[in-house]
Amino acid sequence: MQESPVDIPCPICQLQGEVYMIAHIDEIPYFGEHTQVTVMCHSCGWKQTDFIPAEGKKAGCWSLVIENQNHLKSRVVRSSSCTIRIPELDLQVNPGSNATGYVSNVEGVINRFVEVINMVLRDLQNDISAKLNEAETTTLTESIQEIEQLESLLNRLTRVGKDGNQPFTLELLDPHGHSMIIDDSASERELSDEEILSLPTGPDPAVFSA
Ligand SMILES: [Zn+2]
Repeated sequence: MQESPVDIPCPICQLQGEVYMIAHIDEIPYFGEHTQVTVMCHSCGWKQTDFIPAEGKKAGCWSLVIENQNHLKSRVVRSSSCTIRIPELDLQVNPGSNATGYVSNVEGVINRFVEVINMVLRDLQNDISAKLNEAETTTLTESIQEIEQLESLLNRLTRVGKDGNQPFTLELLDPHGHSMIIDDSASERELSDEEILSLPTGPDPAVFSA
């Protein structure tokens, strides 16, 4: 694939002349024909991918109720402007200034949440060991409660479709309309003007206008 130089400084390491772009037209079933654009810096390794559909798309929210193992296999196209939510569990990932797009499946998206929760859990556990050493029992109960909450979150996320586990909803909110959950039971609605205003749109699209 042909790399072409982009005349911008790298947004991470600021070096000029190190940023390149690869664009190619691709087809994902149901998502349709789109241009996949990857911008990268040869100096620091920064990389950002995005998916630009051939047909104009409306700002939209895709949602799927995750209630069985089959839903875990459904494909997800997540663009760099997409916010991911699991409202029942109060979980949300906003597209940061360094957000990148990816194609994955529902399980892959859930695993990203699981990784973050595990990281927080490890921190809390270290915290508790430190408190035990210093005999700080007053705040110990709080940390233990937090750990219990996180563990029940993990349980909910990792035991999809298993006995008694409550279903939850995966939502993709994308002001640019470049994201999608590909599943027969997934539904799409338009975003309200208010939602569009309040949602972050990720990295500066100027990078992609080159
Ligand atoms: Zn760089």
